[in-house]
Amino acid sequence: MSSKIIIDEKVTTFNQISDEIISCRKCILCESAKLAVVGEGSLNSKIIFIGEAPGKNEDETGRPFVGRAGKLLTQLINSLGLSREDVWIGNVIKHRPPKNRPPKSEEIFACKNFLTRQIELINPQIIVSLGRFSFNYFLPDAKITSERGKLIDMGRFKLFPVYHPAAALRNKNFLNTLTADFSHLSEILEKNIREKK
Ligand code: URA
Repeated sequence: MSSKIIIDEKVTTFNQISDEIISCRKCILCESAKLAVVGEGSLNSKIIFIGEAPGKNEDETGRPFVGRAGKLLTQLINSLGLSREDVWIGNVIKHRPPKNRPPKSEEIFACKNFLTRQIELINPQIIVSLGRFSFNYFLPDAKITSERGKLIDMGRFKLFPVYHPAAALRNKNFLNTLTADFSHLSEILEKNIREKK
């Protein structure tokens, strides 16, 4: 099968999952949210970034990480020598929780299958989880404070947990740690991904 057909199939499957997300009524978040945020970027990326849930700007545009935290995330991605278009960015939760409250466990459960299928489709080498909710989606009992900045072997991919950019905007120490973790990630990418090109 030619690579063009494989890429077309990926886009078709991604669009099917997106349609399911947009019409999902499995939890109450769809009642207050304006737009679903399905995720965006390259479906062939070796590295993807997973946040918690859409905020106000994301809810209004249907795009992930477009507010202040998104601006910081974009700078951090650029610090890796990559652009937003080179990578894929998504969230655990696809509809905005009211007033940006933390997602409830039943909402995470209702949305779980979508991210699982998106990850299977993209099949990245590295997943960068942004914040506690995203990290605990992959490792429910682990503590981000002790595991952040480490490359964790998850079998089909490696997980690299970091603090959430929104937390870094509120706390200078978190910002320094997040920046240092991205510099470590840059070294990891240098070794892993670029050597294989
Ligand atoms: N915070 C998130 O976790 N995700 C977004 O898309 C925006 C802000």
